Amino acid sequence: MTKKAPGVRAARGTALTARGWQTEAALRMLHNNLDPEVAERPEDLVVYGGTGKAARDWASFDAITRCLTALADDETLLVQSGRPVGVLRTHEWAPRVLLANSNLVGDWATWPEFRRLEALGLTMYGQMTAGSWIYIGTQGILQGTYETFAAVAAKRFGDSLAGTLTVTAGLGGMGGAQPLAVTMNGGAVLVVECDPRRARRRLGTGYLDELAADLDDAVARVTEAKSARRALSVGVIGNAAEVLPELLRRGIEVDIVTDQTSAHDPLAYLPRGVAVDDWADYAAAKPDEFTDRARDSMAEHVDAMVGFLDAGAEVFDYGNSLRGEAKLGGCARAFDYPGFVPAYIRPLFCEGKGPFRWAALSGDPADIAATDRAVLELFGDNDTLARWIRLAGERVAFQGLPARICWLGYGERHLAGARFNDMVASGELAAPVVIGRDHLDAGSVASPYRETEGMADGSDAIADWPLLNALVNTASGATWVSIHHGGGVGMGRSIHAGQVCVADGTPLAAAKIERVLTNDPGMGVLRHADAGYDTAADVAAARGLRVPMREE
Ligand code: NAD
Repeated sequence: MTKKAPGVRAARGTALTARGWQTEAALRMLHNNLDPEVAERPEDLVVYGGTGKAARDWASFDAITRCLTALADDETLLVQSGRPVGVLRTHEWAPRVLLANSNLVGDWATWPEFRRLEALGLTMYGQMTAGSWIYIGTQGILQGTYETFAAVAAKRFGDSLAGTLTVTAGLGGMGGAQPLAVTMNGGAVLVVECDPRRARRRLGTGYLDELAADLDDAVARVTEAKSARRALSVGVIGNAAEVLPELLRRGIEVDIVTDQTSAHDPLAYLPRGVAVDDWADYAAAKPDEFTDRARDSMAEHVDAMVGFLDAGAEVFDYGNSLRGEAKLGGCARAFDYPGFVPAYIRPLFCEGKGPFRWAALSGDPADIAATDRAVLELFGDNDTLARWIRLAGERVAFQGLPARICWLGYGERHLAGARFNDMVASGELAAPVVIGRDHLDAGSVASPYRETEGMADGSDAIADWPLLNALVNTASGATWVSIHHGGGVGMGRSIHAGQVCVADGTPLAAAKIERVLTNDPGMGVLRHADAGYDTAADVAAARGLRVPMREE
């Protein structure tokens, strides 16, 4: 397939290119995912997460664009791993698009089999929000990362990271949020990245403060910042599998260690001794050898993380399967440290809380500023949320269509959705708003190395929940709904679902939004109540959500 020059950009303003706002929204969000400001490798249709794509190939992209442009309000487009495969007559409450990405039957759900099928042109990797058209750039993960580091601060460091040093790696689409999330919490952070282009991109968008000349320079800058209790993020170019063991050997006092390289896909993790410029050709030519070398390097990387754990640091896996891959590479103690969900996030999931996000289809930052004010009016008594919205307004550079994220739970999201729809109807916003979420959410994912690690009842690998979630959102009136396999942790390790709805200011949109944004986070509460979490059962009881097995 010939590559296009990266020039895709979502339309802005109020002139429709599709027949209505519901389909216009899907069109703009697909295009926005591939905006060069948003996507990591738009020329290959890769949005983020190593290989997460928005469409299978350019011919599929063109065909999806054509279909969405002409789609009627009682039709539904079917997308199978990034390729449009049908347009069916449905009804106006049905989703306009149904997507299934990267799903393989259990025994076949391995990377080699996936790659074989991908090479035949039969599938693509959808990651979480790449193939479901609701990626909003690095901000999408920023608040979750900010919340996670805030939870680390609360657990170990007296509610602030001032005076602490964090060491991590990966300055990609998601990982690039780490330096800003740490400095927003007051800490110093050293981020190892092997690809200088990625590091420069984060500098350019203000997510990273400084790029050091070499490791000595980097260490000097962050240790000075730590002792001065100054917030500072410093990037260093190097391989994490070499730099972390070296930091340990030097006895640098590190307080927090994590990682966001693309470890979930061994071909997207650079083994030590391989030059960045040789990476793509080597991985394509000898995937098995590359995988073995990547896993060996990950084992050394994780050995060093366990070394920091032994030295007293707070160490956690940041949802990229690094522990699982390192174990395959021979690291016996890979699972000595926990994943971030059981360590910090599960109590939020019990309330149906997760990364709620929205984007302004007008392209006008003023629309997001207005929604920020609305969120502060609605939920201003939540201090962490209010602090986030204010900091985000000041410090987050938009990529592509202006967007915002904040964590809201059951009983909250539909209030925000209703308010946004009213603001569109009254003309307070220049154009409609899309409202979605990450798949990294309370009730829409089965992922034993991440969202469902260590569930109270042992139900980590039960994947009925994301399927129910997609069915519920389809039944409730979402504009597009997706079911994916793999996501952030890789083939064979997760099944997850997403939804997006469109606040176009109509009464119909208001009715759909009220149901979707109630039922979708409700699934998170139900999933955790069913697993035996009392907090979830209490939330359900207090907010009127029926849990049949807990009724008399
Ligand atoms: P990405 O591919 O855009 O970025 C990964 C970065 O790691 C790249 O810049 C790459 O150059 C760098 N890298 C690879 N090997 C390296 C090595 N050995 N040493 C140093 N740098 C190396 O991916 P992303 O979107 O930033 O996602 C990162 C990981 O986090 C993925 O595995 C993703 O699935 C996972 N993820 C986690 C969450 C979460 O909430 N915790 C959410 C989404 C994704």
